[in-house]
Amino acid sequence: MRNMRELGNYMERRYNVPFAEGMEKMDFEAVMGMMVQAEKVLHDFPALQDQVKGMSSARMGEGAYASADLNGRICMNPERIPDRAALMRDYARDVAHGYHPRGSDGSHLLVHELGHQMEAALVNRRYGSGTYAANRAWRKCTVSGEIVAEAMTRLDANWRSHGKETVGRISQVSGYARRNPSETLAECMVDVYANGRRASPLSKAVFSITKERLGGIR
Ligand SMILES: [Zn+2]
Repeated sequence: MRNMRELGNYMERRYNVPFAEGMEKMDFEAVMGMMVQAEKVLHDFPALQDQVKGMSSARMGEGAYASADLNGRICMNPERIPDRAALMRDYARDVAHGYHPRGSDGSHLLVHELGHQMEAALVNRRYGSGTYAANRAWRKCTVSGEIVAEAMTRLDANWRSHGKETVGRISQVSGYARRNPSETLAECMVDVYANGRRASPLSKAVFSITKERLGGIR
């Protein structure tokens, strides 16, 4: 792949994930690096190939690198990701501060967003796409909350929520994972794709449960 158009054609043909508006504003090398990791996730979770409707870019202020919505859009921020070097440098700083999983790097950014799309796929499947109930469950992290709780119980049969153990296990994944269960799930995916067997116990359990729920067939 030599340019954004070729990469977009490939992603659409291979994974049913088209490149939409604004992708030409993104740096090709940065996007290419992220797609190499994203491909592994799309391969392992084929249900995502129906859930994810496309990649786009839009300005979203200084804060966020990217975002994911319930309707299958993944949006990247060209100001936060001006090129590959800046992405790798800024993300490495986040890792150094414990904000993202140790061992992960800027190329794992879309693994995080695809983690959100795993939750979105489960929400849409249960409540129906575009319904009030789906939007509510998405906002309230209903499904990710269930998955994290199930993972905690698998790791400790006597687990009770709101205990010290919960914060401890989530903090092992990353600082950002503490924000809410959706971010926990997304950061667990980054941990697993970055660290494999050396990922934290919580991340491995969340990965397995999410995979069981989403299934192997499209
Ligand atoms: Zn997130």
